[in-house]
Amino acid sequence: MSASDYNENGLPVSDDIIDRMLTFSPTFSSLQATILTCKQFYRVFQVHPKSVVRAVAYNITGPALPQALECIRHPDIQKLPHEFSSRAYWGESDEDLEDDDSKDEDSDENSGKEDKKEPTTQLKQINARTGDIDIDIGDLSLAPITALETREILANSKVVARLEDLFSFRYLDRSASTSQLSWSESQAFCVAMYHLMLYSSIFHPGTWNISSDSENDENADIGEHREKFEKRKKHLSRLSTPELLQLHSVAEFLKEILLWCVRTSGYPSEICDLALAAGPVRILKCFDNQDNSPLQPLEDMLDYFEEELELHPRLAGLLSGPHLKNLEARNVKPPPSDFTHWLSISPRVTERNSQCDRCQKSFGFNTFSRSTFTELSNGEHLRLHTTSLSYYDSENISRCLKNRLRFNYAESECFSHEAQKFGASLLLQIWNDLWNLRIVIQLPKDQQNLPDWTEDDYLCEDCFRSFLFENLWLWWRHVKSGSEPLKDNCWYGYNCRTQTHNITHAEKLNHLCEQTRF
Ligand SMILES: [Zn+2]
Ligand SMILES: [Zn+2]
Repeated sequence: MSASDYNENGLPVSDDIIDRMLTFSPTFSSLQATILTCKQFYRVFQVHPKSVVRAVAYNITGPALPQALECIRHPDIQKLPHEFSSRAYWGESDEDLEDDDSKDEDSDENSGKEDKKEPTTQLKQINARTGDIDIDIGDLSLAPITALETREILANSKVVARLEDLFSFRYLDRSASTSQLSWSESQAFCVAMYHLMLYSSIFHPGTWNISSDSENDENADIGEHREKFEKRKKHLSRLSTPELLQLHSVAEFLKEILLWCVRTSGYPSEICDLALAAGPVRILKCFDNQDNSPLQPLEDMLDYFEEELELHPRLAGLLSGPHLKNLEARNVKPPPSDFTHWLSISPRVTERNSQCDRCQKSFGFNTFSRSTFTELSNGEHLRLHTTSLSYYDSENISRCLKNRLRFNYAESECFSHEAQKFGASLLLQIWNDLWNLRIVIQLPKDQQNLPDWTEDDYLCEDCFRSFLFENLWLWWRHVKSGSEPLKDNCWYGYNCRTQTHNITHAEKLNHLCEQTRF
């Protein structure tokens, strides 16, 4: 390369190209790493910090950037009374923010130090201009993005992306753990989820004033209730009709997640109405918190409503009330109550994708299939929760052996010991072996009216357990016979009573066989 190939900046590429390169950074931390690598890069960044940061924010959120910004900038969020919880706890997460993400990005000359904590001066001017009635999302997204905001954007975008993955898995393509939504479907989902995030931040129960004082004056209470209802209705009125329908669908999805989380908690199903008041961040936390107590992230809300439970009637209509009024005003029918409302997000959604292939019931968020077992063996478990998983680990899986085999101590011990060797690949190994060796037992047709098992099945937990119950002992017999010759068969096979209390008998004979004497 000759000296003439170099630009004034001493590099073989011009400042414009460097600027362009910076806008392609996929994350704020990669942007930061890039500008700290080279003085020239840093200098170029300082010329246009706002546009570069905005471009990177777009790379993170996609086309939902205006809504993502609105979620953290809307002036009504700032006005929350915070009676009993910080904003981060009620609405959008300030936790999980990554400290290593960009500290120098707002080195723009125009942005003073306070920009990092406060909404920008420009935004304040906008707010002063618009008051709190007509918020123009275009205006809200105009101001330069501050360093603090980059972190909030990142944290919220992670939540939205993960919810999109879950949605895609549940309604579009259960074989993939990451979103298979198209560009425009993904945009519809994300925009709607940010709308919901904002809605639950602005209208969360902390603003309701359901204290006993207001009971003294019922009329005042009704008046206040109506005023708040009108405010919510007005807030939603700015959305287009497709956006309203999409908002309904993501709200239903959030309720579905919460319902899944509380299925073993003893709470009534109406509790899923809490999902909209809690907002996407906290509901995803519940979903991820299933190992111990899924409702822990909602504890303060549950405390708050404790005296009001039967849940507060306003909770059920938090979104649906003003939502329906808006549709009514446009002469639009309410969203369908069956599965077809999901079509608002994607026309490719099918109900079958969310159902067990065997019993046709919804499998919730736990599905048992080869793709699930493959993910598990790769150390991922997006779809199976620890409570379910522990049931099938090497320690416990012998409980799925057929009939009295599972009470055969000698057999269970030996099985657990062998199973340990497969580690996280245990279920994948069992599934593959049973199909490759063609030893899967189908129940005789006259005994059941369910379809045959197939190796491509997606099963609910109940059906998977019956599959194991019918077939696991065959797999264990295959594994065992590979390392030692099997003992003579006991006449009573897996139904033998003696194997459960007589260890000598259990060890002396093979019980991994059918009963031949009755
Ligand atoms: Zn099933
Ligand atoms: Zn026996």
